[in-house]
Amino acid sequence: MQYPGFDFCITDQASDSAARCATITTPHGDIPTPNFIFCATKANLKAMPISAIRAAGVDIILSNTYHLMLQPGSAVVAGHGGLQEYSRWRGPMLTDSGGFQIFSLGHSSVADEIKGRRTGRGNMLYGISEDGARFRSYVDGRAVELTPEKAIQVQMRLGADIILVLDECTPYHIREIQTFEAMERSHRWALRSLQAFQEAGGVGSAGLQSLYGIVQGGIYRKMRQISAEFAGEHPFFGTAIGGCLGSSTQEMYDVMAMTMDYLTPQRPIHLLGVGRVEDIFRGVALGIDTFDCVAPTRMARHGGALTKGLRLNLHNAVHVNDRAPIDVTCDCATCQEGYSRGYLHHLLKAKEVLAMTLVSQHNVRFMVRVMLEIRQAIREQRLAVLAKEYGVAL
Ligand SMILES: [Zn+2]
Repeated sequence: MQYPGFDFCITDQASDSAARCATITTPHGDIPTPNFIFCATKANLKAMPISAIRAAGVDIILSNTYHLMLQPGSAVVAGHGGLQEYSRWRGPMLTDSGGFQIFSLGHSSVADEIKGRRTGRGNMLYGISEDGARFRSYVDGRAVELTPEKAIQVQMRLGADIILVLDECTPYHIREIQTFEAMERSHRWALRSLQAFQEAGGVGSAGLQSLYGIVQGGIYRKMRQISAEFAGEHPFFGTAIGGCLGSSTQEMYDVMAMTMDYLTPQRPIHLLGVGRVEDIFRGVALGIDTFDCVAPTRMARHGGALTKGLRLNLHNAVHVNDRAPIDVTCDCATCQEGYSRGYLHHLLKAKEVLAMTLVSQHNVRFMVRVMLEIRQAIREQRLAVLAKEYGVAL
């Protein structure tokens, strides 16, 4: 199918790796890639007003369908003209299908499981069937059903430029056969998602939308191949790499690499939920175009400031008398204003909300700059050199 209003144009290709620069065109603006998609979970980037997000140079943000379908509800967002108007971001947006959070309920935390850690938290997932998943709303306790069709309908009301098919996220500890069954079901759900999208004409509350397929298959090469080829055979605009990526960093890199072996390079490729700087360099070198992760902003709210090759813990008492900004070379609003590490340390200790804003502004700008530098390095055929500056050996 065609995606009017959308385009994916590869402009530069590295000679010594699969890294590439491209532009994803959407009705709400262009996204130069490689790029980082910042998490505006509940239609806001925590502690940062839209003006600060723009000032930091952010190109695209994402919101979570699961949270927004429960509060305020997708019909409310549609009534406000879609997420872009509602939040006043008015730029490119992505929403996930809601599946990740829902299946987290059933498998303790999928985030933990994807990293191979087992936890024992409560279960609010009533069940998964061929039709979809039923869960209890954490907002008002009512039973909610999410089917592939509903995931699309909700995302069309939310109106993001890029939306995702519903998939079943499986944790690390399940057996191979269960991973296979979940993958097969995810493929059937992907086709139902695609059909629902096509029947609705691909137009959401904020205009034209595009649909990404998701590659599943856990840590198994054969399954990653089957799932990548499945996604490539159907008319999705882009491809997201999902599912369990293993229990160690090395295993994650292996799964990323084996998946990329079978993906359609002509489409934009997103890696779901991965966004440490070293992981981004690895992913970019494999040809991955976009990344998302809550880490830079979550870390900031807890006093963790990102700098090249080093993470500062501003809670640390060593900063009490430090009059230097987080990073003298940083052009973010916080460092440019000259807020000292000592002052930020004080705000954090005093639990002042301003601390969250100031450190978030820095971390967001840091990630934007990493991606700017990566794109520049690809164009100049020196990605490995840049990676080394960040302490990453490609
Ligand atoms: Zn800064």
